[in-house]
Amino acid sequence: MARALRGLRCAAGPAPGPERGPGSGPGPGPGLERGPRVRFGPSPTGFLHLGGLRTALYNYIFAKKHQGTFILRVEDTDQNRVVPGAAEGIEDMLDWAGIPPDESPGRGGPAGPYVQSQRLELYGRAGAALLASGAAYRCFCTPQRLELLRRDALRSQQTPRYDNRCRHLTPTEVSQKLSQGLDCVIRFRLEKGVQPFQDLVYGWNKHEVAEVEGDPVILKGDGFPTYHLANVVDDHYMGITHVLRGTEWLASTSKHLLLYKAFGWEPPQFGHLPLLLNKDGGKLSKRQGDIFLERFARDGFLPEALLDIVTNCGSGFTEKQMGRTLEELISQFEVGRITTHSALLDLEALPEFNRIHLTRHIENQALRQKLIKELQGLVELVYGDQQVDPDVLENEYVERVLLLRKGHISLLKNLVSSDYSYLWVRPSVSRQQLQTISAEVDEIGKLVLGLLTRQAGALTMEELNKDLRSLQKQTRETKYSSMMQLLRLVLSGRQVKKQF
Ligand code: GLU
Repeated sequence: MARALRGLRCAAGPAPGPERGPGSGPGPGPGLERGPRVRFGPSPTGFLHLGGLRTALYNYIFAKKHQGTFILRVEDTDQNRVVPGAAEGIEDMLDWAGIPPDESPGRGGPAGPYVQSQRLELYGRAGAALLASGAAYRCFCTPQRLELLRRDALRSQQTPRYDNRCRHLTPTEVSQKLSQGLDCVIRFRLEKGVQPFQDLVYGWNKHEVAEVEGDPVILKGDGFPTYHLANVVDDHYMGITHVLRGTEWLASTSKHLLLYKAFGWEPPQFGHLPLLLNKDGGKLSKRQGDIFLERFARDGFLPEALLDIVTNCGSGFTEKQMGRTLEELISQFEVGRITTHSALLDLEALPEFNRIHLTRHIENQALRQKLIKELQGLVELVYGDQQVDPDVLENEYVERVLLLRKGHISLLKNLVSSDYSYLWVRPSVSRQQLQTISAEVDEIGKLVLGLLTRQAGALTMEELNKDLRSLQKQTRETKYSSMMQLLRLVLSGRQVKKQF
């Protein structure tokens, strides 16, 4: 297949004129929604991580704020790095995070297909149009020659770059090489004198790309485009109006603008997002899966907590504030408020973010019902093989536990940890353990039972505290604190008060 495409591309007769290429149309295809169209273009090389989530999120909230469309486009032009299942995993995680795309490989849409490897014909036609207009040329340099150039440059401490040799081939030389069946790629002619552009985040910018790099390959021998061609062609045909992407692409934007100019297309507006770094300024580590969304989901973090933490450390809002909901993120976001300094992410604060969002979920009637089900499942999972009193699985009981503990727990699963086991299974405590606290254990037991029988109705916390204090007066040798310690041990199996 690759060979067939290669043969076809290099041996092609006269290239199709621009009228048949993508340069012909005045704009993107018909049927695209009005309003801003933005896209998240991950390469399917693994799981979605926090950096990717942040880029997707800024695109999502920008689209929703301006009644626009959020698109997921899978950028798989580097086939060697594609991980099977990664593209589907990324879309699933966007759904989990509550920021689903409006158009995507899974959902389809009017500008599809949304996977670059399914759009090769479009890139082929775009490359042919640039060849025909003279903005691109065929390059027959062998990998050996390119390697020699690279080594020479390194030896003289220069940055390796292509020397643009094939720019100067005559049409006859090109025809000869084609008829000999030589392999070729297509390169874009980088022109000097780029126009500055106004980045939504970084302001006025330009990079004289022709002065620092050789003409880039835009179509490879196997018919696959490189990133630069594919992203320009797709952004155009998908009607993208705003490109919000990582700052690592800022220096390539002048090159992309030269491509737009060569096609005669109007470019989108660009906004580059500063880097997301560890709180100490180091690169976010992907080791041990510690920044992948799958891991946070598995550990029981709420998606809202992740959205909140990645926007809190960055910018785009008037002030820092914990606990924003997605709706608040959308209404308060201003792209012009994104600052250019790196965003430092303090993952140690994530449990605190989760605590705030979990409290909000518990306080919300509908969300609480979901938590009740989830907690019942966790109790069965963790304590299912022990003697669980069926009453503790009742909705009403589980709901009371949630309401009493809200604000004290950062993860739902804290409630099934050993510190809270007494909520679900009876503690086993030996008489000896009790007697070391007080010799009056039997008397105290009777007094407490008597008190509970008298107070069969609902008892408030204050009433109970008062009764316990007066009850203690009836004991001879046991101090109030020891009596409370005794009760704690009987009821929870724990010696000390645990603070969550
Ligand atoms: N595929 C690129 C990446 O994963 C996307 C760049 C862009 O958004 O233009 O970084």
